[in-house]
Amino acid sequence: MTITLITGANKGLGFETARRLIQEGHSVYLGSRDPKKGRVAAESLGARFVQLDVTSDESVDAAARDIKRRDGHLDVLINNAGIAGHSGILPRDVTAEDVQHVFETNVFGVVRVTHAMLPLLLEAEDPVIVNVASGLGSHAIVNDKSRVESRFVTIAYSSSKSALTMLTIQYAKAFPEIRVNVVDPGYTATDLNSNRGTQNITEGTEAIVSLATIGGDGPTGTFKDRHGVVPW
Ligand code: NAP
Repeated sequence: MTITLITGANKGLGFETARRLIQEGHSVYLGSRDPKKGRVAAESLGARFVQLDVTSDESVDAAARDIKRRDGHLDVLINNAGIAGHSGILPRDVTAEDVQHVFETNVFGVVRVTHAMLPLLLEAEDPVIVNVASGLGSHAIVNDKSRVESRFVTIAYSSSKSALTMLTIQYAKAFPEIRVNVVDPGYTATDLNSNRGTQNITEGTEAIVSLATIGGDGPTGTFKDRHGVVPW
């Protein structure tokens, strides 16, 4: 059975990804920083709850030890947990601290979890990592006037997701034995955007589920959405 860990899976895209992968036969560790929310979510899906705050070494290391003890390896890691950062701040008022806050989850959180889970992934036959970025992290898209993403100024969020696309390339190069890809879910109605997203949750999880189930001969180092390749 495919053993899968999804961070930030107590709601939104992570939760729906957990539901769909369980349907596909995966045994899913549903990561949640809040134990109460995580247990309720896991129980509702038949997933296994694991407490996981991506900003905490202690929490992430404990989650890795838990998975090692129960399964000895990890087939699929989905780095999904993410935050938008404070809304309503004028660009001129954005501080280093504001950006650091967002990077702490969206960038350093991914490195922390990936680093902790690597030994478990390397024990798997065909390990896979899916990083959940955004079209707002694509240099090409935010400079394309025909794209809605070009109309937003999101200093912390966009730069964090852009860093995540580069992390994906670097991890893909460093670990050719792991399929490491990054996705743009597309603008999807979740709490992240106060449910203003125009896609539903099924559309929003298409690319994540697709890349989580690619297997050993699938691509690595790619950036995709549900329609295909995303320009960097
Ligand atoms: P969401 O509904 O707000 O869910 C975000 C999840 O991340 C929640 O489970 C949240 O937990 C968790 N999280 C936040 N900080 C965490 C931390 N330090 N440790 C562990 N978990 C943490 O948002 P979503 O739309 O599903 O977002 C999922 C991913 O998709 C994010 O990376 C986001 O940037 C990306 N994305 C979303 C869209 C979109 O339109 N929705 C578009 C592009 C990319 P709590 O419940 O405890 O807060």
